[in-house]
Amino acid sequence: MSNFSLLIVDWYRLNKRNLPWRNSSNPYFIWLSEIILQQTRVDQGTSYYLKFIKNYPTILDLANANEQDILNDWQGLGYYSRARNLHFSAKLIRDEYKGQFPDNFKEIIKLKGVGQYTASAIASFAFNESKAVVDGNVYRLLSRVFDINTPIDSTKGSKDFQELADQLIDPLNPAEHNQAIMEVGAIVCTPKSPCCPSCPLNTICLAKQNNTILKRPIKQGKIKVRDRYFHYLVFDKNGRLFIEKRTEKGIWQNMYQFPLIETTSMEVDLGKELNELKTSESTTTKHILSHQRIHTVFHHFNGFPAKKGNSWIEIDRKDIQDYPIPRVIDRYLENQVNF
Ligand code: SF4
Repeated sequence: MSNFSLLIVDWYRLNKRNLPWRNSSNPYFIWLSEIILQQTRVDQGTSYYLKFIKNYPTILDLANANEQDILNDWQGLGYYSRARNLHFSAKLIRDEYKGQFPDNFKEIIKLKGVGQYTASAIASFAFNESKAVVDGNVYRLLSRVFDINTPIDSTKGSKDFQELADQLIDPLNPAEHNQAIMEVGAIVCTPKSPCCPSCPLNTICLAKQNNTILKRPIKQGKIKVRDRYFHYLVFDKNGRLFIEKRTEKGIWQNMYQFPLIETTSMEVDLGKELNELKTSESTTTKHILSHQRIHTVFHHFNGFPAKKGNSWIEIDRKDIQDYPIPRVIDRYLENQVNF
């Protein structure tokens, strides 16, 4: 075992957080936890993990479930493609793998929504395969311990950091090594205020010696964020309203929303008929996603228009919570006295 691995594993045994998925080597549970935590903090993701293993205790339960129920259970976590990919892969495992979760990295990485990091995590935690994990915490930790200035978001960076992580892993104890490296990165070597005095690697950390800690890791460029403008049309006729299903690929696919007009700026031309029906509009709110900023306005109308859209479904106002809806609409409903 390398000195690096020895130091982090010893520290991990004494300091690890007791997280529910850590007490299991069930690949299905580990997969669920990893997908939930992909864009979600541990404190927020834990209740969702517990809900999913309660509602879908086996992979067959998930595979046989209705997609709408899964999306409802996912509501509030965002990035709904993760839930759809979970369902898709569960059905694939049921149909192509006789319900048995694939037991090696090469097969696991073929699952939809599973990349190098997630496949390594499942293969090592569940099957003790020697595959090094490199998540955001590991990038930061390695870039500091070895004082590396290669940008972590470059092709060279991802290759170099993966190779370094592969050299450091203890092949006899890959599961614990991987848990340990991520845990040190997550709770000791934090982005803005790393706790060097209690860090197990402080005697070998080059960034500490070179006084470059807060300059690591290096990133080459920020992702461009696209602005989108969503005008939701809330037609209300004696407690009845219209919703529609988002069928196009991209954000919130298969979820429900009020009829929508998307524009390229805050301006919208509703036309004469809708302007006459319109009673008020909400203030504009911003919803930030990783690559998009969604500006939303809810326009309120008293009554239905003469012609309804082909995809519109008429429902009772009180039934809207039975449909999976994006967080942005959920938040709007929370502030409406009528819902
Ligand atoms: S010594 Fe400080 S900077 Fe270096 S790895 Fe530990 S916490 Fe991070």
